[in-house]
Amino acid sequence: MSFVIKPPATVSVPVVGSKDRFPVNRIYCVGRNYVEHAKEMGFTGREPPFFFLKPTDTCVIVNEGETADLPYPSLTKEFHHEIELVVAIGTGGKNIKAADAHKHIYGYGVGLDMTRRDLQGDMKKLGRPWCIGKAFDHSSPIGPITPAAQAGDVENAEIFIQVNGKDRQRSNVSKLIWNIGEIIEHITAAWELQPGDLIYSGTPEGVNAVVQGDVIEGSVAGLTPIRLQVV
Ligand code: MN
Repeated sequence: MSFVIKPPATVSVPVVGSKDRFPVNRIYCVGRNYVEHAKEMGFTGREPPFFFLKPTDTCVIVNEGETADLPYPSLTKEFHHEIELVVAIGTGGKNIKAADAHKHIYGYGVGLDMTRRDLQGDMKKLGRPWCIGKAFDHSSPIGPITPAAQAGDVENAEIFIQVNGKDRQRSNVSKLIWNIGEIIEHITAAWELQPGDLIYSGTPEGVNAVVQGDVIEGSVAGLTPIRLQVV
């Protein structure tokens, strides 16, 4: 088959312990999924989970041991980090129950749901979609994916981010309002998950702005950490 224009490249993420890569299909994100973050955003933390999507080509692939460039985006004065555990889907499905969800997971990685917070806030006030605040170019950094069997107890792992060596967010994945199985149950009630889908599972409290020159280091215990510099 030939195409009238050059087809886009497949976005893919390195896999720990393999020379083969994980191809990315859709990117789902969970909003306000840690109580203390929901509070800092002005909500009670007691609401059903909700989701937004980012284009696959917003991924910034962060290789082990490297410092990736993170371009400062246009139009914002409030470029926020959100450290998140990312779930990589190996087998898809519809109407997956929480109790069955883990067999659909290929592995886990460390990600950032970068946000133009001022633009997101403007859109919230107007009741408009969040795309300009969330789904912009380079807004989805992700590190290598660790296969689930080697990832340890990620659902009880410490999750944290430092900027220029100082703590910004530090919590534990066990504090998710909706755990990974429940997230997959809710997503697959609304969409059919596909192999290659990524789920950014939400961020704990402490979201804050970065500026050009800042060095961001993000970790979930048991997974490969990520390091980026805002350029
Ligand atoms: Mn987020």
